[in-house]
Amino acid sequence: MNLMLMGLPGAGKGTQAERIVDEYKIPHISTGDIFRAAIKNGTPMGLKAKSFIDKGELVPDEVTNGIVKERLGEKDTQKGYLLDGFPRNMVQANALDSIGAELDRKLVGVINIHVDPASLLERLTGRYICRNCGATYHKVFNPTKVAGVCDRCGGTEFFQREDDKPETAKNRLDVNIKMNTPLLDFYKQKNILHEVNGNQAIEKVFEDVKKILDTIK
Ligand code: ADP
Ligand code: AMP
Repeated sequence: MNLMLMGLPGAGKGTQAERIVDEYKIPHISTGDIFRAAIKNGTPMGLKAKSFIDKGELVPDEVTNGIVKERLGEKDTQKGYLLDGFPRNMVQANALDSIGAELDRKLVGVINIHVDPASLLERLTGRYICRNCGATYHKVFNPTKVAGVCDRCGGTEFFQREDDKPETAKNRLDVNIKMNTPLLDFYKQKNILHEVNGNQAIEKVFEDVKKILDTIK
């Protein structure tokens, strides 16, 4: 299953991705996670990406497309993959079509998690992440079961993303809202777009996602 999760920042892509990859045993490929790891490791690509990420802008397409091509060329994507946060514009969508054809990794399903944009800023500014396993929580909507302990791995260190501060988060939303509609049209025309209502409890959203994935399998 070669899949892609779509949705504005804060829609719940990472949260659903955790559940999808545990259930369907396919690798989770988040361009945002790849950039954050590169920044943490101080690589030249990370340094380049950081200046864009800090402003809430998109990293240039040639950098992002190159990373995805390299990642989809790895062996673990042979039985499927779950892209999260890529493509984010039409240049990237066309690049993914070419990469998919070249590497025999054609996209077969796109799930768009739709959330009322008015509630996204609150989701972003309350988000915190386990430093050990990357599991995502929210101060109000989805706290850990035991305070300070990750449900998934037992880790006790968490962080908030720099770009989840209100000013940057707001710009990220504006940037992504603009690019979203043409992408949705593109995948609708290909007949591979599936819509999910993301304004529901996390486990209910996942139930709806599973129903869709079971039709794609
Ligand atoms: P994305 O990867 O799309 O940016 P995340 O999965 O990181 O979004 O979710 C953003 C924030 O919203 C996180 O703090 C997460 O815990 C919370 N969240 C995710 N799904 C829901 C939901 N269905 N209802 C309420 N909060 C949610
Ligand atoms: P995310 O983790 O998906 O919210 O992405 C965090 C940030 O990484 C974005 O605001 C962008 O600056 C950058 N980024 C992630 N994916 C892409 C992409 N497909 N194209 C360009 N920039 C990206």
